[in-house]
Amino acid sequence: MHAGNIFAALMSWLIVKAQGGRIVLRIEDLDVERSKSSYIDQIQRDFENLGLTWDEGPYFQNNRNEAYQAAFDSLVDRGLVYPCFCTRADLHAASAPHRGEKLVYAGTCRDLSPEDVRTRMADRKPSYRLVVPNEVYKLTDRIQGPYEQNLAIDCGDYVIRRSDGLFAYQLAVVVDDGEQGVNCIVRGMDLLCSTPQQMYMQDLLGYETAQYAHVPLVVGEKDRRLSKRDYDAALDELLAAYKTPEAVIGHIAGITGLTPTTEPVSCEELLASFDLDALPRLFPDNVQIQWW
Ligand SMILES: [Zn+2]
Repeated sequence: MHAGNIFAALMSWLIVKAQGGRIVLRIEDLDVERSKSSYIDQIQRDFENLGLTWDEGPYFQNNRNEAYQAAFDSLVDRGLVYPCFCTRADLHAASAPHRGEKLVYAGTCRDLSPEDVRTRMADRKPSYRLVVPNEVYKLTDRIQGPYEQNLAIDCGDYVIRRSDGLFAYQLAVVVDDGEQGVNCIVRGMDLLCSTPQQMYMQDLLGYETAQYAHVPLVVGEKDRRLSKRDYDAALDELLAAYKTPEAVIGHIAGITGLTPTTEPVSCEELLASFDLDALPRLFPDNVQIQWW
């Protein structure tokens, strides 16, 4: 854990609690090899220590294959899924970078003939893409305000199952949110551009659209996203420097502009003075917050 994900977790906690909601803890361990159980235990201890309590869960993703498969099959049955044989290099060659971070898939494999598919299957395992419509999806984010995307132009057909057989994050979170009753989603600004894709899948699978709040990213020097290398921002270093969980929360709240000072404060105390409607004003320069 580092200051960036503590900030995102704190904001989730405040935004949900301020509306009388319940926090669901979900461990997104689709990639089992990268999700060691010692890390998962540590994350839960860290949340508890900081006062970031949860009311439900933890839920996991590594035991949810049946649900993801059922959703995948229902999209396949409607003719909305096709295999894609493009390599990473093909994708970069065929698509233009868009809105800074996302590559728009050119639809290269959308119209392959059944023969073509058979021949290529023998050669390499495909990923599977969901066909998107030429349609605009709009939302009003609790922090970022109005946001919209034309799926065909800004996004392109996107991967819902990877070539190694794992279901993609996009599919897993939509199915989990739908089935676990998650109707308020608070997460980093970097995922705002995925939200219209997920809203489209919610429509296809018959789930309600959730309320969204995308929080600014906390970045290190040269606008790099914080990582384990930023020792000053790592939770154990923060605890060593500031001594108590309240002092760490207070420091993060102060640096990110959530509070006017960096005085120690508990999550409960922050909640008492938390104003959900003030968030867009609180984070006017809303993409990044400098840790330094
Ligand atoms: Zn392709």
